[in-house]
Amino acid sequence: MNEFDKMQQRAKELRDLLSYHSKRYYEMDAPEIEDFEYDMMLRELEEIEAKYPALITPDSPTHRVGGKADGQFTPVEHVVPMESLQDAFSFEELQAFDNRVKAVIDTPVYVVEPKIDGLSVSLEYENGLFVRGSTRGDGRIGEDVTANLRTVKSIPLKLNTVLPFIEVRGEVYMPKNVFLDLTREQELNGEKTFKNPRNAAAGSLRQKNPKITAKRRLDIFLFNIQQITGKELNGHKESLDYIKGLGFNTVPFYKECRNIGEVIEEINRIGEMRGSLPFDIDGAVVKVDNFSQRELLGSTSKFPKWAIAFKYPPEEKETTLLDIEINVGRTGVLTPTAIFKPISLAGTTVSRATLHNQDFINEKGISIGDKIIVRKAGDIIPEVLTVSWHNQEKDIYHIPDICPSCGGKVTREEDEAALRCCNPDCPNQLLRNLIHFCSRDAMDIEGMGTAVLEILVEKGLIRTAADIFTLDKDEISKIERMGEKSAENLINATENAKSNDLSRLIFALGIRHIGQKAGKLLSDKFGSMDKLMNSSAEEIAQIDGFGTIMAESVTEFFSHPESRELIEKLKALGVNMQGKETVKENRFDGKVFVLTGTLTNLKRSEAGKIIESLGGKTSSSVSKKTDYVIAGEDAGSKLQKANELGITVLSEEEFSKMIK
Ligand code: NAD
Repeated sequence: MNEFDKMQQRAKELRDLLSYHSKRYYEMDAPEIEDFEYDMMLRELEEIEAKYPALITPDSPTHRVGGKADGQFTPVEHVVPMESLQDAFSFEELQAFDNRVKAVIDTPVYVVEPKIDGLSVSLEYENGLFVRGSTRGDGRIGEDVTANLRTVKSIPLKLNTVLPFIEVRGEVYMPKNVFLDLTREQELNGEKTFKNPRNAAAGSLRQKNPKITAKRRLDIFLFNIQQITGKELNGHKESLDYIKGLGFNTVPFYKECRNIGEVIEEINRIGEMRGSLPFDIDGAVVKVDNFSQRELLGSTSKFPKWAIAFKYPPEEKETTLLDIEINVGRTGVLTPTAIFKPISLAGTTVSRATLHNQDFINEKGISIGDKIIVRKAGDIIPEVLTVSWHNQEKDIYHIPDICPSCGGKVTREEDEAALRCCNPDCPNQLLRNLIHFCSRDAMDIEGMGTAVLEILVEKGLIRTAADIFTLDKDEISKIERMGEKSAENLINATENAKSNDLSRLIFALGIRHIGQKAGKLLSDKFGSMDKLMNSSAEEIAQIDGFGTIMAESVTEFFSHPESRELIEKLKALGVNMQGKETVKENRFDGKVFVLTGTLTNLKRSEAGKIIESLGGKTSSSVSKKTDYVIAGEDAGSKLQKANELGITVLSEEEFSKMIK
């Protein structure tokens, strides 16, 4: 194979890879590789295409803005394209950019600002009112996400000054603390977590239900005016100052720089702040300030020639692996944690990172004493990347076959990467279970934290969760640094917890796969602990959002005599076993209805509410899964499809009879 053929093959390979990862990133909000890896592949393709222009294809990712509008949203055509940015990974590349600019403009003034790692949106205002918001999509066609953007508190719905029209562009992001809270909540609920704040922001904004977006506490920074009528502006800095006055949250800092030396200084300054900022940035953007100079420079099909993004390399550091600690979780899973020589990384000192499981350790070939490379994933959670020097004196680390807490047997279940201690009396497991039981999201017993529980378990005062409710004030007050007042508060907190809602108790039991949300759904469905304990996996699996694994996990839990014994004890001690609401009438339990045509006595929305209140669901399209089609006057294609599929069709009158 000659050089050209080889390059042709490689270009195709790169395009396939880039297209796959682009889809995962932009359309599914679930990337599999780091941005840096993606950028390096794109760079390689750019270099091949520059050397062999014959290999350029019109649809090459080097010429296109990534992302595609999802069919579930109304498309929005961007009058002014939402372009991407060219990248620089070194100061030499930045210098080359400056040279290219200077070939057209004598003394350019630049503005440098942080490159926010979120997703790009455009906001349109007519006569000072927010009328439409959309995503970037492929730069020309985006998605209408107005309803979702209205839930972002810092987006003004009305401007301070009434202008005939303005379109601004900015970056929606999820603050780091919100991301950490969300991750914690998703873990508690056994849900899939987002890889980093950027994907969390994209996944939260591109939701069909704006209520979900509202809960995600997204924020925005604006960085450009796309179109404006009724105001003359000449430069970038001036326009950012202007939109700030209109009530927009602009990028938090933007600095005018008179030469490339000042630009580099500012990029370094932003780089040093990076770890301590409350939001993620993935670079700094350098822009020519003057608008008429921008016009002279022009754009390619993908990016403007007057701006460039300097991308900071992900901060990675080498350190020594001092030890591997094994923690026993509340479900008995043994998790190895790397303990390494403390290093300062993206603004904080870190000394621990999870090693996940044995497979991860084997794959990286990790042993104690190795030199390892650590970095912060999405600049937040530290992770071990690779082994840079292997300690020949040690074999690859092996998680012990016995539980480090109780010495019990450890097994690995089929299809599972995790090792689990099978001893139900394992003290570490007991402690973790109790910590979970008392935690804020579960029984919420204030004052019953890890330290107190550790002592109570060690002293043998607590052996099961029920013992929490039989604690004696005098005994507690004897605990070091406890005192009578704290003991009294603790007893009061346990008393208060007895009247908690059933959903809290279900979650507190620590049933595998049953998080907070699932606890609530079980409580709503069964209404009492007795009914839940005596339900079958089939009944549980009917709950929307439950699968067989979750359902079987519940029945498995209650099949153990110890579990039932615990419930009986808790009941005898006065712990609430009833749901807040008594069981709803579930006449339409799980049945799917489609409403079509015009109803005369009921509005469609009212009919929908009635169906839901009786346990049914409504859908907008007819399929094999539909149980009933309610056909009003002038029903058309949906009625026809229902007849073709043999689905029961109800008139409005028949439906009214059913719900009487
Ligand atoms: P980009 O993110 O590199 O730059 C353009 C974007 O920067 C604009 O859309 C804009 O919204 C944003 N931006 C933030 N702050 C800005 C500011 N102050 N001024 C101007 N723009 C600002 O380019 P891109 O085309 O949006 O996406 C490429 C990025 O996506 C790369 O970082 C790439 O690594 C990543 N990506 C990753 C994967 C993966 O699998 N990990 C896949 C595809 C793309």
